[in-house]
Amino acid sequence: MKKVVVLGAGYAGLKTVVELQKKLHGKVEVTLVDQNDYHYEATDLHEVASGNLPTSKITFPIADVLDPSMTTFIVDRVEKVDEENKKVELANHEPLSYDYCVFALGFVSETFGIKGAVENSLPMTNIVESEAIRDHIEAQMKNYQSSKNPEDLKIVVCGAGFTGIELAGALADARPRYAKWAGVTPDQIKIHVIDASNRILPMFNDNLANYCLKLLDKLDIELTQSALIQEIQPNTVLYKGADDAEGTPLHEVKAGTIIWTTGVSGSPVVAESGLQARRGRVMDSEHLTVPEDDDMYMIGDVAAVMPPDGDRPYPTTAQIALKMARYVAKDIEARVNGTKRPGAYTFSSLGTVASVGNTRAFGESKGITMKGYPASVVKKMIMNKSLFVQGGLKELIAKGRFDLYH
Ligand code: NAD
Repeated sequence: MKKVVVLGAGYAGLKTVVELQKKLHGKVEVTLVDQNDYHYEATDLHEVASGNLPTSKITFPIADVLDPSMTTFIVDRVEKVDEENKKVELANHEPLSYDYCVFALGFVSETFGIKGAVENSLPMTNIVESEAIRDHIEAQMKNYQSSKNPEDLKIVVCGAGFTGIELAGALADARPRYAKWAGVTPDQIKIHVIDASNRILPMFNDNLANYCLKLLDKLDIELTQSALIQEIQPNTVLYKGADDAEGTPLHEVKAGTIIWTTGVSGSPVVAESGLQARRGRVMDSEHLTVPEDDDMYMIGDVAAVMPPDGDRPYPTTAQIALKMARYVAKDIEARVNGTKRPGAYTFSSLGTVASVGNTRAFGESKGITMKGYPASVVKKMIMNKSLFVQGGLKELIAKGRFDLYH
């Protein structure tokens, strides 16, 4: 029987396993490896970081969706894939051999080597990091009771990408709770987002980007654009303004909480495995495999796929990760059954919606623009769909976002 090893139980990896279980029961042996025994909805990490949702609401046990008669689950850290010998090296288990490997180890925070970013700011790329942000904010707010230092009440988000904007909106929703801890009024909790570009969210048109700017303003979220962060010192962000004359001193923003959301790169295991990549993303073949190794699939945030008519790879989203997984399961099914493989992978986006807090969002789907409360309902429905696709009805009922009406 062919052995399929799936590395990572995020959107891409777990969906691949679920699909293989449906398509190839009794025909392949699947081994899934993840460092955690739970799956998390990465698109909702800001809800945990802000403290608006408990961790249990965006996670579920991986074992819940596995078929033990076909899939073996190993909780361990993947150290490296040895493509030549078709082996996966794990931190605490014997190496695994495979016929097909599906590499779906996700992303890590990207600091671009900016001084002090690792030491003095908080990343938000997984559950552990998001809980650390939540706990840090709570401690800062409570500390204000004795310190009376306004920095304790200030949160800076570095980077106004999709992640930074959604996080800022969630933090704004959490203001009343933070204010209670600190013994102040909600308007005293300051949220400040700092970004290098002069046009946030390039994936949205001007109309939607401007709508986002208005929303931030309405929610009293300060946004500084054209501000290239140069260094993070303890409780201090130092940035250079795009129009600053040579020799202008760096601008300083002081805050008790500094969160780092300036972008992500693919898992470091990509480089450990000697794969050719840019920012941890491998330029895939048309079958979503490593160009020179057709038995090694790279999907999710470790993959770069070029649209036929574009010059930049598709953005890394949960939606594309799930679609890649479906394609890979189909391709493996064809190869195992000896039937014709599917044609080249193509992706057509169903649309993109960004939330700014629980009841406000904006985005587009198939050319239709959505704004405000209706967009927030669509966003929750998208999240529910992805939960259903991964965890089935059981997880949807337990964890779904049914607070559609406010
Ligand atoms: P991003 O790369 O989209 O945005 C990073 C932002 O940080 C940019 O606006 C950039 O200008 C800014 N930046 C970078 N370096 C900086 C510096 N030195 N100083 C100041 N600003 C700096 O990263 P992200 O928001 O983490 O998103 C990562 C990927 O995940 C994207 O592809 C995004 O579309 C995707 N994502 C999708 C969803 C979703 O679909 N729900 C949610 C979150 C993220």
